[in-house]
Amino acid sequence: MINKIEQIDFKNKKVLIRVDFNVPIQNGVITDDTRIVEALPTINYIKNKGGKLILFSHLGRIKTADDLKKNSLEIVSKKLSSLLNENVLFVNKTRGVELEEKINLLNPGEILMVENTRFEDLDGKKESKNDPELGKYWASLGDIFINDAFGTAHRAHASNVGIASNMKIKAPGFLLQKEIEFIGGAIDNPKRPFYAILGGAKVSDKIEVIKNLLKVADKVFIGGGMAYTFYKALGYEVGLSLLEVDKVELAKELLDLGRDKIVLGLDVVTTKEFDKDAKASVYNIDQIPSDEMGMDIGPKTIELFNSYLVNAKTVVLNGPLGVFEFDNFAVGTKSIAKTLASIKDRATTIIGGGDSAAAITKFGLKNDFSHISTGGGASLEYLEGKVLPGIECVTNDWFR
Ligand code: AMP
Repeated sequence: MINKIEQIDFKNKKVLIRVDFNVPIQNGVITDDTRIVEALPTINYIKNKGGKLILFSHLGRIKTADDLKKNSLEIVSKKLSSLLNENVLFVNKTRGVELEEKINLLNPGEILMVENTRFEDLDGKKESKNDPELGKYWASLGDIFINDAFGTAHRAHASNVGIASNMKIKAPGFLLQKEIEFIGGAIDNPKRPFYAILGGAKVSDKIEVIKNLLKVADKVFIGGGMAYTFYKALGYEVGLSLLEVDKVELAKELLDLGRDKIVLGLDVVTTKEFDKDAKASVYNIDQIPSDEMGMDIGPKTIELFNSYLVNAKTVVLNGPLGVFEFDNFAVGTKSIAKTLASIKDRATTIIGGGDSAAAITKFGLKNDFSHISTGGGASLEYLEGKVLPGIECVTNDWFR
């Protein structure tokens, strides 16, 4: 069974590659090209092996005809072309004779980029609802399918699951393979002790993650805005801090469930206003004043968390531990990130996507972890223990 990229013979083959080029664009300029850069190893590998590359990606959301112009992938194809220093042929269509002819004219090593797959959403959400005819049609354009888009792996769309289910030879690209190895590896078979650190704004977003990590991790550290719902569940007043009143009962249940695993903070950094220059104070968690809000974990909490983390063998950090966008309240997230950076030679350290990845980049620590996930929603669902359709569809019997 051929289902690893290294096993496939790409020579002279038309290779459909689903990448995640959903990059941020402001005033016609790509403000962060990380996602394009991350796909280069797979693109270069297949190119060097003599494949003819046909790239698919989505960009933004397409609801009305007005969304089409500002979400064309043409600008992305130009960026890819400059990164590779070679021509990338762009076809501003998602189907049709012109696209088919240009694909058939490709020489080995040449690259063609198809227009935004979500342009198909304008007519009955064909891409996002995995319209069976669309997946079959796209699959008919090539000989091999490689999925390298982790950012959409938690969704069954025509451009991942649809193509894969109509293709015999398929595999994950190097980027997706890395996500499987690191996040999948941490959840399925972690070196212990395995510690998970969870932050971010809301408990409600991370309920399933907490439940699953309580099953597989040795300790679960909780910080960020979501910690205050847990403090409330313990009977403490949290002043003006973020609080999900309707989740206090659930927090009690989780604390019960994870009695010997959940580690909460001892103190918090507070302010009176949500402002980057607001005066900061430190209080123990049972002394938060009624007119203050918690913005970061405090020094005793940092010390407590770090005392465990230095001995970790596997760590997953998902969500910032404070309002890291304001320097005064980035100290907790930064201290924990630095501790993780310091153990990178003896532990597997994984940063969940989205805001935690943004925080790490802001601290200049981007290269100091084993793995920084490229997907926000996808990494959360992966940590929840779910089977991701975008992974499942190209891994066949990997895990059976
Ligand atoms: P999430 O999208 O759930 O990962 O949440 C990330 C956001 O949580 C970031 O924008 C942080 O500023 C915010 N955050 C972290 N800690 C706190 C806090 N103590 N109070 C308010 N917001 C917070």
